Amino acid sequence: PKRIRDVVRACDRSLEDYRSEVQRLFEAPLNAKSLLAMSAKLQKQFYPKLQASNICMLPSYNHTLPTGDEQGTYLALDVGGSTFRVALVELNGKKAGAESMRITHMRSFRIDNAIRSLKGHAFFDWMAEKIEESISGPEGKSWNNGSTLPMGLAWSFPVEQTSIRSGMLLSMGKGFLATEGTLGRDLGELIMKSCQERNLNVRMDSIVNDASATLLSRAYKDSSTRLALILGTGFNAAVHLPVSALAHSKFGQRPQSWHDQANHVLVNTELSMFGKNILPTTRWDDTLNINHTHPDFQPFEHLVSGRYLGEIVRLVLLEAVRTAGLFGGEVPEKLSEAYSLDTGIIAVFESDESASLSQACTAFQTAHPLPKPPTFSDLSFVRHISQLVSHRAAAYLAAGIHALWSLRASAEGLSPSCVGRVSIGCNGSVIEKYPYFKDLCQSYLDELTDLSGAEPHSVVLEPAVESAIFGAAVGVCCLEQRE
Ligand code: BGC
Ligand code: MG
Repeated sequence: PKRIRDVVRACDRSLEDYRSEVQRLFEAPLNAKSLLAMSAKLQKQFYPKLQASNICMLPSYNHTLPTGDEQGTYLALDVGGSTFRVALVELNGKKAGAESMRITHMRSFRIDNAIRSLKGHAFFDWMAEKIEESISGPEGKSWNNGSTLPMGLAWSFPVEQTSIRSGMLLSMGKGFLATEGTLGRDLGELIMKSCQERNLNVRMDSIVNDASATLLSRAYKDSSTRLALILGTGFNAAVHLPVSALAHSKFGQRPQSWHDQANHVLVNTELSMFGKNILPTTRWDDTLNINHTHPDFQPFEHLVSGRYLGEIVRLVLLEAVRTAGLFGGEVPEKLSEAYSLDTGIIAVFESDESASLSQACTAFQTAHPLPKPPTFSDLSFVRHISQLVSHRAAAYLAAGIHALWSLRASAEGLSPSCVGRVSIGCNGSVIEKYPYFKDLCQSYLDELTDLSGAEPHSVVLEPAVESAIFGAAVGVCCLEQRE
């Protein structure tokens, strides 16, 4: 049964009083000392998972990073939370006069609720249909000149790798049902089976999580990359760690014993799953969690990712309508529907610099028509709540990155002052596009690393555009190099 802790207050109060209460609750934990303490507790949560866990701190088979010299043309697949993209990617290495990596063709397919609800094989059949549409459509002729296309996949969900080109399907968040009847099956085989039914001339050569793909693609261009971050619909980070940081059993009953010889391994942390009882929550976060289809599965993600920022704001707004007279005390159409306030809309509230918040007003009114237009005080209230929610996300994210950065330093036996500059490849709609988000996170990060005794700017967030698609391709060429 659902426990509703979001109790509606009996007594009314002014919007201003309510605003101050929300501000106090969201801002209280954001001082550097508290964030540093959160980072320390997160590190404590990492260690047992590096020893045993089959859902997070997942080692990949990528034990060397690309040199940036690799070359070739590959079919790259990117299965995200809301789009499936199929692209032909050219890696040109350091060839003079050529861009180091280039997308020559790309098709993008929306993943709506109907696709998300496809069960088991039906989902992989849909993928194969879209691959076919891409490579053999009228325009697709040029994708494939008769030879088998080597294919790399960036998968935005956890996967337990069993070789560089295979991995066991694990629980998928983000509302996907593709694991029904297929959980634990080989992801590469599932996709290839659907492709073979359509006689597609493709071969699955590499599977990586999208966070690991981001690290690979960024490392192809900047060899100082050791960490990568995804913050879009979902949230995750990958880190390059010494093999000795993980228990032997984490490598499972894998046939090869490459990890006995390897120094390092790329680890998909599934950082979204950490943070329970560490990152302070408010009553609105608790409501979100209780009503979630997968409560407690990804507590960190619930506080920071694009799927949830708008939802947290929505929950605060609803309470403000009911108890403090926001929008004249009337719930706008659709706003009572869960997940109806898109993070894209609250982003407009934060980017709108007009005196009257007119762009924000239009964006809100289009999605949530009100009988009477919102007043300026309503609009600035929404804007303030959006800021509180997104600033907290940027601060918690900095604590999470700091924790992984510290984990890596200690695994390498380095003190923070001599780790040197670390570049973090970042991808995803929130980190790339949400107004002020990346800069804010960077400034929290600077403060935290400074307190740990690191040189100024030793951890730098670097946007990694199209990193999932590029990383999927880099994954294939790393394999080719090794064989
Ligand atoms: C998934 C990760 C993924 C991340 C970013 C999370 O919800 O669990 O596997 O990397 O979203 O797409
Ligand atoms: Mg993506």
